[in-house]
Amino acid sequence: MLKPGATIGILGGGQLGRMLALAAAPLGLKCHVYSPERDSCAFDVAKQSTCAPYENETALARFARTVDVVTYEFENVPAKAAAYLSARKEVLPDPKVLETTQDRLIEKDFVAKLKIATAPYAPVHSATQLADAIAAVGLPAVLKTRRLGYDGKGQMKIGKDGDAAAAWRSLKQAPSILEGFINFEREVSVIAARSRDGKVESFDVTENEHRDHILNISRAPAKISPELAAEARGIAQRIAKAFDYVGVLAVEMFVVRKGKQRKLLVNEIAPRVHNSGHWTIDGATVSQFEQHIRAVAGWPLAKPLTLGRVEMTNLIGSEVNDYERWLTVPGASVHLYGKKEARAGRKMAHVTRVWPAK
Ligand code: AMP
Repeated sequence: MLKPGATIGILGGGQLGRMLALAAAPLGLKCHVYSPERDSCAFDVAKQSTCAPYENETALARFARTVDVVTYEFENVPAKAAAYLSARKEVLPDPKVLETTQDRLIEKDFVAKLKIATAPYAPVHSATQLADAIAAVGLPAVLKTRRLGYDGKGQMKIGKDGDAAAAWRSLKQAPSILEGFINFEREVSVIAARSRDGKVESFDVTENEHRDHILNISRAPAKISPELAAEARGIAQRIAKAFDYVGVLAVEMFVVRKGKQRKLLVNEIAPRVHNSGHWTIDGATVSQFEQHIRAVAGWPLAKPLTLGRVEMTNLIGSEVNDYERWLTVPGASVHLYGKKEARAGRKMAHVTRVWPAK
């Protein structure tokens, strides 16, 4: 158990790292952010920062000496850097989780092994396998690269009469998986935290709306039945337990309708704090960021309660220029990430609105 005054090392310097460091401060904990990008927005709010590539072992060793525990804010931490740090300081969540979640095929196999439903899927490593995958999964489908995809990057939809070979060529014939296209009713996610002693606390299920493959709006609690919400939280709990996970994770799911019934399919696991949990900063009694800090510090988790109906809107690219208007919207909490360049598709800020429960 870390004592107040201890230092948490964070790999990655984006807005998630920034909000982790901001959540550590009121608990009397300090953060050291490690990121290869010079203008990392998490550097602005951390006690210490290191700007160096993940391959720089001298910098990694120095970083490890200054921290009491290491965590990460993105899932593509290079395996070698994670192993190098693990040999020197505890890294939480355990980097073995990354081996599973960095690869869509291994991740889907892992979920399937837990007897949790996913979209139908099949591996694609060759033209022959692509034909087999289409035969098994059917069309329409989504072809996704096994590694390094996010916000719709590294994936291509193939329509009913689509040209699958062309889609695969456009993904540079990278090792991929073919997933059946799911006509979902809604998309939801569960943000759950697991402590070192195996206790799990999850937030109310979040409902997510994407635009151009990027999260646009999250609403909590999701408009689903209490039974389905309990099932969704149960799935996240089982996944966290199977990983012997410590920290916050997010599980993205599709809600599909079957007659009057609703079914959940797991789409993706994020081994970190997640954009769809940003609403918890203003809309819950504890934020996902504080829960993560508590978990990796070996502290007890808080019991999260939602303060009302909550809506979080991402300000993407030039939408951030609207921040002055948002500042005047009654009840809106504005979070600007302090990024210099408002490039298209870049997450620049978010706004949360809470309508308190009566
Ligand atoms: P992902 O990168 O897997 O999280 O996918 C990004 C978004 O693409 C998801 O949030 C969905 O909106 C959509 N998507 C991904 N996979 C599928 C699928 N199998 N069927 C339908 N839509 C999908």
